Amino acid sequence: MLSNSLIELDRAHLVHPVASWRGHEKAGVRMLTAAKGATVTDATGHTLIDGFAGLWCVNAGYGQDSVIEAATTQLRELPYATGYFGLGSEPPIRLAARLADHAPGDLNHVYFTLGGSDAVDSTVRFARYYWNARGLPQKDQFISLEQGYHGSSTVGAGLTALPVFHAGFGLPMDWQHKIPSHYSYRNPMGSDPAAITAASVAQLRAKVEELGGAERVAAFYAEPIQGSGGVLVPPPGWMAAMRAVCTELDILFVADEVITGFGRTGPMFACAEEGIVPDMLTCAKGLTSGYVPMGAVFLSDRMYQTIADHAGAAAIGHGFTYSAHPVSAAVGLAVLDLYEGGLLENGRAMGARLQAGLAGLADHPLVGEVRGRGMLAAVELVTDKAAKTPLPAAALPSQRIFDRAWANGLVIRAFGNGVLGYAPPLCCTEAEIDAIVERTLLTLDQTL
Ligand code: PLP
Repeated sequence: MLSNSLIELDRAHLVHPVASWRGHEKAGVRMLTAAKGATVTDATGHTLIDGFAGLWCVNAGYGQDSVIEAATTQLRELPYATGYFGLGSEPPIRLAARLADHAPGDLNHVYFTLGGSDAVDSTVRFARYYWNARGLPQKDQFISLEQGYHGSSTVGAGLTALPVFHAGFGLPMDWQHKIPSHYSYRNPMGSDPAAITAASVAQLRAKVEELGGAERVAAFYAEPIQGSGGVLVPPPGWMAAMRAVCTELDILFVADEVITGFGRTGPMFACAEEGIVPDMLTCAKGLTSGYVPMGAVFLSDRMYQTIADHAGAAAIGHGFTYSAHPVSAAVGLAVLDLYEGGLLENGRAMGARLQAGLAGLADHPLVGEVRGRGMLAAVELVTDKAAKTPLPAAALPSQRIFDRAWANGLVIRAFGNGVLGYAPPLCCTEAEIDAIVERTLLTLDQTL
């Protein structure tokens, strides 16, 4: 049982991420106390299927002994080693080499961060360094997509388009620009995939022109599937078409795979199934399956060599105390063993089952669209299917749907705009996938 004193301590001292601080003080914390496989248990003893893998991160599931063992061994042997001063340790070297093997194309150079936000920040710094090295310092404008999410650090939040990450902050973002999302369900261009892709290509070209031409634009950012924007899946070929524009115009293409990496959509990286090689790729979350913090930036050979040659003997001034942390890297290696040892395969089978199961809810009166790929999915709720009328936020707060699902033994993400998000651990069993679908149906029926 969660003691009142713990609730009071939380209210008094712990600042929660992306929360109404006043709202949280009133509601109090709902605490998790244990987890195993794809299930979590709260302080009242209620056990639920975690249909969102924490925050789309615990891809390997909870309580994996090999991961716990790897972390414990590393903590005993060498809990910390800096990468500064020419020093290093074994786990991050091995992890970087194995990741380079899995990464698409020539993304052979890995810079480790603490998570996704600072991975995105690092790409901004590397992009600027690269263009300065190429003698093109005026390439200092960045473009990303509406409904995109690229973290909430000071720089990455600018590439993020979700309004809540900007409201009230008033930080200067005048070098970061957006073009419309490919979001097909409510696209003014209609839902024809070819038309949506053609529109995105035209919008990117137009934005580049508006900014003064390609000689002003450093990079374009896209998630292979927009996660926090509501699991928005681009049409087939969309990523390749945007990549082609960037190649033609000599603009860096950054694929943000913080959510889609590590089997979330099927393969190790979603870029592989899109048939593209970005100039930089960011990842985090599934990299360590959420057991410890870690993110990474992959740099292409061309970017790495250009930066390295330009700097020569001078230090490239980018680094964190915890870059390439040996414990995080040891966890990363153990998690990679699991992915390679059958977890990705299970994720692919369970992903197909999840998509089919959720698609079966499409006829429900509250369901406007079911979309997703692999173990990443969304159900968009409407009050009128033909008119695609969004749920009125005030009448049906997403918190209420979240609470109902919770009571039914299911953790989902209930986005504010009436979209339910799913990203279960890849270790789910068939019975757990079926239960996710059944408990969703029950929750929707109770919501009618
Ligand atoms: N990029 C994407 C696509 C994300 O989904 C996220 C987090 O959800 C981030 C970046 C930021 O990662 P982090 O929360 O680890 O800083």
